[in-house]
Amino acid sequence: MVDINEGVIKFSTKEHNQTKALQSDEYRELENWREKLWKVKLIGSYFPSNIGYGNLSVLKDYKDRINTEEPQFLITGTQTGHKENLSGEDYVRVLSFNEKTFAVKSEGPCLPSSETPSHYSLYKAKKDIKAIFHVHDSKIWKYLCEEHPLFTPADVEYGTPEMARQFLEMDLPEKGIIVMKGHEDGFVSYANTMDDAGELLLELYHKLNG
Ligand SMILES: [Zn+2]
Repeated sequence: MVDINEGVIKFSTKEHNQTKALQSDEYRELENWREKLWKVKLIGSYFPSNIGYGNLSVLKDYKDRINTEEPQFLITGTQTGHKENLSGEDYVRVLSFNEKTFAVKSEGPCLPSSETPSHYSLYKAKKDIKAIFHVHDSKIWKYLCEEHPLFTPADVEYGTPEMARQFLEMDLPEKGIIVMKGHEDGFVSYANTMDDAGELLLELYHKLNG
């Protein structure tokens, strides 16, 4: 059974500023990782619903647009999981997020991933996190639910204020994987480089799949 809320935006996007496609130098490194994860279906879409899953972000400095001490990041757009390759039309900048109103200020050619609030919360929970990769895999998720020390409880939905609170209260190592027991198939890796966040996922994938 797949979470039917997957891909449904739960935050306000009224403050989205629509722009033309982003330049490739802004998203290329993230896209390189996305391709690797898509190949092993850690990013993809469910059959037969075709609901996409998987979203990646990298911390950025967009202070020239909105000056804030809060995390700002580049993230994959909503409903992109089914696409093998993303272009400058599929990436978007998150300039600010209001934790009280759940309003996102974003800028780009598309709306940000429905899971933007969780990315924001995790960046906020640990200052030296620079990359967050959220992926899905049924086999790995089941394994992590049994074995893994870093998790959010089964009654906590992904993308909710309660999830944010969970992240803030966790004692997070420098890099790692967190399994969302309340978000079927879902887990997230984070690190202070994209390579480290991606390698964590591929190592785990190969450990379970040979
Ligand atoms: Zn998910």
